[in-house]
Amino acid sequence: MMKTKELDKTYVAHTYNRFPVEIVSGRGSVVTDDTGKEYIDMGAGIAVNIFGMNDAGWKQAVKAQLDKCQHTSNLYFTVPCAQLAQMLCEKTGMKKVFFSNSGAEANECAIKVARKYAAEKKGKDCYTILTLENSFHGRTLTTLAATGQDHYHEDFTPLTPGFVYAKPNDLHSVESLVAQNKVAGILFEAVQGEGGVNVLTKEFVQGLAKICEQNDILLMADEVQIGNGRSGALYGYMNDGVQPDVVSTAKGLGGGLPLGATLLGEKVRDVLQPGDHGSTFGGNPVCCAGALNILSRLDETMLAGVRDKSAFIVDSLTGMPGVESVTGMGLMLGVKTVKPAAEVVAACREMGVLVLTAKDKVRLLPALNIPLVLLQKAVHIISLACRN
Ligand SMILES: *Cc1c(COP(=O)(O)O)cnc(C)c1O
Repeated sequence: MMKTKELDKTYVAHTYNRFPVEIVSGRGSVVTDDTGKEYIDMGAGIAVNIFGMNDAGWKQAVKAQLDKCQHTSNLYFTVPCAQLAQMLCEKTGMKKVFFSNSGAEANECAIKVARKYAAEKKGKDCYTILTLENSFHGRTLTTLAATGQDHYHEDFTPLTPGFVYAKPNDLHSVESLVAQNKVAGILFEAVQGEGGVNVLTKEFVQGLAKICEQNDILLMADEVQIGNGRSGALYGYMNDGVQPDVVSTAKGLGGGLPLGATLLGEKVRDVLQPGDHGSTFGGNPVCCAGALNILSRLDETMLAGVRDKSAFIVDSLTGMPGVESVTGMGLMLGVKTVKPAAEVVAACREMGVLVLTAKDKVRLLPALNIPLVLLQKAVHIISLACRN
C-alpha cells in the first residue's frame, strides 16, 4: 500500500505545495503528525480553527446537530440557520444574511448584490467594483478578477470584466478611479491577508466610507480572514469606526466546517429576491450549529485576550535579531525576516512550530484561545528560527 504522501502526490491534483507533514490529530493548539511528533499550531488551518482542534463546545454543538439532521436543502427551514442569521445581524447591525460555503462564494454574493443594486438605482452600465492592489478575494473567475494581484490572473483570462484596482492607503488613487468609472461597490480587507498582512489605515477606511456615501457606492468589507474576532474586534472594520453596506465572511466562522456568509445592510437588505441567488449546501445546519457556538463565545473577554496576545507577540518579536518588522493586527500578524520566509518556516517546523507565509513574510494566525504558555514557547522558537 502506498504511503499517504505518495498516494496524495499520485492522485490529488498538484495545486498545493504541501509542507512535508501529515497531520493526524490535535487538541487545542497542539497538533500531532503521523510519527507522533507534536507541533504548536500557529496557523490554525489558515485562520479557520478559531478555537483550535477538537474544541469541546464546538464539537458538542456539531454532534448534537448531526444526531438530528445533517442537511435539508434550502427548500426547508432549520433552526441553526435562522438563529445564526439572527446572531450575526444582532452583533453587527446588519439586516439580512445569505449563507454559502466559502470565502470566494461569500464575495461572489457581495458582487452580485452590488451589481443588482447599482443596476436598479443607477442603470445597467454601473457595474464596476473597485478593489485594492495586493488584495485577495478568492479563486473563482469573478473573485480572481476582484483579486488585485496579476500573478493569480495569469493563464486564466479572460476573467469577469468590471474590476479596477486602487492603491491601498491612497485615497487619491481611489478618487480618480471613482471619477473615471461607474463604480457600484468598493471591496476591501481591513487587513490584507494573502497580500502580505498589510493593515489599511483608519483614515483610509474612513475615507473609503465617505467616498461611498457621497457617491451612493456600496462599502463592502471582505472579512473572510480578519473577521470573527481575529483582529481583536468582532469584525476588522469595527476598528475603523465604519458601517459597511455588505460584509462577507467565512474561514473562522464555521470553526472548521465550510461556511460562508454575506451580511446585507439596510440599503441592500432586500436586493436579493427569490431566484436571484442560491446554494445547495449554503446554511447547512451542522455548519451553522458549530458557527452558533463559535460566534456566541466571541465576547469582549475573548477579544481582549486576542489583543493582549497580539501585543505579547509584537513586543517579543519586534527588534529581535533577524526580524525586520512585524505588521498586522490582533492574531493576524506578518513577520518580515532577514532570512527568506520559507527557511524560517522550515526551521520552525523542525523545532515543532507550524507557521505560514504571506508573500515574503512569515504569517501567524493562531487559534484565538491559544494558551499563553504555548504562545510563549512558540514565539521563542520563532525568534530562534529568525536568527542567522
Ligand atoms: C481565504 C480568503 C478568501 C477566499 O476564501 P475561500 O474559502 O478559500 O474561498 C477570500 N477573501 C479573503 C480575504 C481570504 O483571506
